[in-house]
Amino acid sequence: MGRFHRHDDGTEHEHGSSGEHDHRSGQEHGDLSGYRTGPDRVTVLERIFDENDRCARSNRDLLDAHGVVAVNMMSSPGAGKTSLLQHTLASLSGRVHVGVIEGDIETSIDADRLAGYGAQVVLLNTSNGFGGECHLDAPMVGSALQRVDLTTIELLFVENVGNLVCPAEFDVGAHHRVMVYSITEGEEKPLKYPVMFRSVELVLVNKMDLLPHLDFDMDLFERNLAAVNPSVAVVKVSARTSDGLDTWLKWLEQHVHHPVSTPSAGA
Ligand code: MG
Repeated sequence: MGRFHRHDDGTEHEHGSSGEHDHRSGQEHGDLSGYRTGPDRVTVLERIFDENDRCARSNRDLLDAHGVVAVNMMSSPGAGKTSLLQHTLASLSGRVHVGVIEGDIETSIDADRLAGYGAQVVLLNTSNGFGGECHLDAPMVGSALQRVDLTTIELLFVENVGNLVCPAEFDVGAHHRVMVYSITEGEEKPLKYPVMFRSVELVLVNKMDLLPHLDFDMDLFERNLAAVNPSVAVVKVSARTSDGLDTWLKWLEQHVHHPVSTPSAGA
């Protein structure tokens, strides 16, 4: 099957696998207008996001029906999402029943690291049937949710694929969006990746134990962050020394209990 596309003028054609042009309007070959970006591309993207948002709503409805609060954790690769989750799961163990959907393009390395803390861990590799996507979207999380026993948990972490761009654009159906930011990433990233920094309500500034060894200017970082997201909360932590984790756990406790519609209440 070739790649079907539409021209801005409404004519349509398909590129066959051999690369030949089959213009239905009878135009001569060599017409490259079909490659332009324009209203068609916008329409397709809108359709993708509409479909994602519909699926995100149904994920959220499913979570709400079970009284589960979901937190979407995003960051660059290596900022410390999994390390922070290890500490978080260890601290919550025995108090809160937790599930984790662990998103990675390949491998179970991070999912394996999260085993042994009493949490339900479900691995979601985006290379398996999802084209190696650089982010999680709502349909992927929806398929992972089928493997989570929602009746036994109150809190679900979705560890997104490490990436500062794409994960911010896809609502996966979580109730809260949190970022982990490593101070090794410099002060300017909020200005360079504003969509991500604007999409979250909390930034966990991680690897604070490295501060004496870096030229990182915390004031400048916080000014840059406030410039793109004035209302964001900031908690400084170190997954290595556990400094600041209490504040993060308090934030979680405040947000786990949100008004939830039980299935029996409305029906
Ligand atoms: Mg990870």
